[in-house]
Amino acid sequence: MNNFNLHTPTRILFGKNAIADLPAQIPADSRVLITWGGGSVKKTGVLDQVYQALAGVDVLEFGGIEPNPTYETLMKAVDIVRKENVTFLLAVGGGSVLDGTKFIAAAARYPAELDPWHILQTYGRDINAAVPMGSVLTLPATGSESNQGAVISRRATGDKQAFKSPFVQPVFAILDPVYTYTLPPRQVANGVVDAFVHTIEQYLTYPVNAKVQDRFAEGLLLTLIEEGPKALKEPENYDVRANVMWAATMALNGLIGAGVPQDWATHMLGHELTAMHGLDHAQTLAIVLPALLNEKREQKREKLLQYAERVWNIREGGEEARIDAAIDATRHFFEQMGTPTRLSAWDLDGSTIPALLAKLEEHGMTQLGEHKDITLEVSRRIYEAAR
Ligand code: NAP
Ligand code: FE
Repeated sequence: MNNFNLHTPTRILFGKNAIADLPAQIPADSRVLITWGGGSVKKTGVLDQVYQALAGVDVLEFGGIEPNPTYETLMKAVDIVRKENVTFLLAVGGGSVLDGTKFIAAAARYPAELDPWHILQTYGRDINAAVPMGSVLTLPATGSESNQGAVISRRATGDKQAFKSPFVQPVFAILDPVYTYTLPPRQVANGVVDAFVHTIEQYLTYPVNAKVQDRFAEGLLLTLIEEGPKALKEPENYDVRANVMWAATMALNGLIGAGVPQDWATHMLGHELTAMHGLDHAQTLAIVLPALLNEKREQKREKLLQYAERVWNIREGGEEARIDAAIDATRHFFEQMGTPTRLSAWDLDGSTIPALLAKLEEHGMTQLGEHKDITLEVSRRIYEAAR
């Protein structure tokens, strides 16, 4: 096992009516800015519940954060935070609202002489302060509710880039599985696929004898494989939703990633597909991952065989056949969730691959993967294989 330094300070308030604990989480005399997305939280009544819980608190509101939140929209909220002296941010929604709010939190405390887009160009490394934030999650997927990461897009330049900072980790996360009953099937599938790929990016690398992390990761994968399809068939099954929600949080809160090599190339190649073609985040991952696993089958051999056996119960045949079967099973699972695994399913013929590679290069993504050996040429092969 590799050395690690793990600190997971987000308080998790999980379960039916967890919102009742919200008032106690916000410091007295706060000036709160509630942030939300395209309106789902208004329709579902979650926003009303937040307002009821915060009766008597000094509250402002900023709605309209879009999926794949943009710098252009978020800068409007940054202005409000600065002008109105907001002291606490409360994100109510899915990963996009949470990620966007992390950007608002850091940008509002960023040196005034710097354009906050600089945060993305420096991957968040120079953030020294942020407005504290909490979250009420409505879409289990990203793990953003209890991690340090965020992904922000910029319309003007067609960029989608990630940053990370301990300063933007939410202080608390309200996770009520009932809030997820209203998700459309496409977003249920997106959430399950995203959480699955987060787990794979930290598990399916090379062995470092991290048995606890491996078994945790396998437990999460098995849970998503069992409960994901049920979440589509039985949208109001509380236990199914609760298990999916907790799996998605655990997949990217630092725990399974502590002390293990991590990949993340699927995410980086996927971000460029979203930026250029507008596919949902998880839709891009379902396309890239099977192609990447096949491309890296030598470097990932031992872990692919472990994955085949422990997650998919594949024990018959030679090594190559078992690896093929595990990759096929992964592809089939995504398809079963309703998420296609080929570019062609989205009418993309591969003609933009040179442009995608140019964007990867512009973003410094030329040595990806746990061995840093996914060069632009390897990325090209992965995109080609995903057609
Ligand atoms: P999302 O973009 O936050 O939301 C997708 C859609 O689902 C929106 O239209 C939203 O509607 C709707 N929605 C959310 N909750 C709902 C509910 N309970 N009922 C009905 N509709 C609901 O999706 P996401 O997958 O959570 O987030 C994706 C973003 O996170 C991407 O930008 C991705 O790159 C990023 N990401 C971040 C991390 C991280 O660690 N921070 C990791 C992976 C991915 P409204 O807008 O109307 O609310
Ligand atoms: Fe993701």
